[in-house]
Amino acid sequence: MQLTVWTYEGPPHVGAMRIATAMEGLHYVLHAPQGDTYADLLFTMIERRGTRPPVTYTTFQARDLGTDTAELFKTAVIDAHARFQPQAMIVGASCTAELIQDDPAGMALAIGLPIPVIPLELPSYQKKENWGAAETFRQLVRHLTPPVGRTPMAGRRPSCNILGPTALGFRHRDDVVEITRLLERIGVDINVTAPLGATPADIARLGAADFNIVLYPEIAGEAAKQLEKMCGQPSVKTVPLGYGATIDFIHEVCALTGLDPAPVLDGVPSRMPWWSRSVDSTYLTGKRVFVFGDATHVIAAARVASEELGFDVVGMGCYNREFAREVRAAAAVLGLTALITDDYLEVEDAIAALQPELVLGSQMERHIAKRLRIPCAVISAPFHVQDHPARYSPQMGFEGANVLFDTWVHPLVMGLEEHLLHMFRDDFEFSDEAGASHLGGHGAGAARPAVPVQTEVLASTEVASVSSEIVWAADAEAELRKIPFFVRGKARKNTERFAAEHGLATIGVETLYDAKSHYSR
Ligand code: SF4
Repeated sequence: MQLTVWTYEGPPHVGAMRIATAMEGLHYVLHAPQGDTYADLLFTMIERRGTRPPVTYTTFQARDLGTDTAELFKTAVIDAHARFQPQAMIVGASCTAELIQDDPAGMALAIGLPIPVIPLELPSYQKKENWGAAETFRQLVRHLTPPVGRTPMAGRRPSCNILGPTALGFRHRDDVVEITRLLERIGVDINVTAPLGATPADIARLGAADFNIVLYPEIAGEAAKQLEKMCGQPSVKTVPLGYGATIDFIHEVCALTGLDPAPVLDGVPSRMPWWSRSVDSTYLTGKRVFVFGDATHVIAAARVASEELGFDVVGMGCYNREFAREVRAAAAVLGLTALITDDYLEVEDAIAALQPELVLGSQMERHIAKRLRIPCAVISAPFHVQDHPARYSPQMGFEGANVLFDTWVHPLVMGLEEHLLHMFRDDFEFSDEAGASHLGGHGAGAARPAVPVQTEVLASTEVASVSSEIVWAADAEAELRKIPFFVRGKARKNTERFAAEHGLATIGVETLYDAKSHYSR
């Protein structure tokens, strides 16, 4: 068992909480010990929710374990029903409560409440948060949506359900607004958006739509399969993340409905394609990028980075193993082997070894990149409070593509053009000691004491592939420090690799320039 402070995903009941918190009129009774109420904080702190999630915990304590914890659970169910008057209830156990085997499902059903009660079997020790959310949504559909037959779409406006947005989802709130507008422009009505903002009564209406939009496959993929089985509804598989994917999405919706894509595609309202062509190519072309996060956002980000921004994706991977196959396939297209892990230390090692110029990741990668002094943009959950902005900031659709451009390119723009930084590198204001100009002279560079310009033996942990015997001569070290600080890590790494490959024990100025011309060929 590995104890860790950071985890990409919580246990599966946190996934169930994401569904319950997103919806209206649904209540979750969770058999859980006192400490597990911590999960509330995720929603109130990170999303700044003004109300607690609709969850009742049994909050049993150590002393209760010798008595009747099952009775505690039954009382909690009855009290929650009386107090919150929900349209439906979901019940289950947290990791710890699972071990005491009280059977919350059986007990809740035996109470005989006058509303649907949906038992959740979420194996806490084998599965995680995204799976828990997907399974909860699937169970809601299975219990609440009656099977319906299909009617032909000809002669009327088609309608769809938007499936997948939840609480604590990365920009889900704004993606829903953007995709709703886009579908309306195409000529498609929205029957239900779920789970976000839906009631159990809305879940019961899902079958009335002609088809489903699976906005987040991690959350809605299983529910969409369930709806296809019960109601014969097809699903749109393209996730409209990025300019190209949004165009593909429009084509897929139109192919399914028989609508004409031309009116929507004429005068596409996105600045992204032109901005990415017109921006100083120093910032984009060939920038080495590492991408990590949930599978859906990683696959999309790798495509946008390589096809739409001209970046060179040098590494990619995801933490949710259920979607490892899709990420491996996307990585193979770029000639890469995907990193599938939920251990952030492994991700950190990969980033340190690759020395990318930009990291696109979750909050975890933001921490890692900050430590390694690499620019970073957040593209995926888990995210922190600053990535749940007050302003409208979608990731999907045409406006989402604009947001991707802004948030991915700006970390690379250090407040001055790179060539100006280079020109004025000896100026007192722009020297290393002054730090990054956008940090007003208070950046890490300013705070750092000057590295002694003597021979420096490299720590073997710092550069695993290079012999610990290699030393930097004083003049080479001084020359290296003339290179702008945000590309210096890469230059250092490349030079050391070059020296190791050529059997050189000492790096001099000449080695530095030989390595430079070798790698720029
Ligand atoms: S037992 Fe489960 S829910 Fe409780 S703190 Fe540990 S991981 Fe979280």
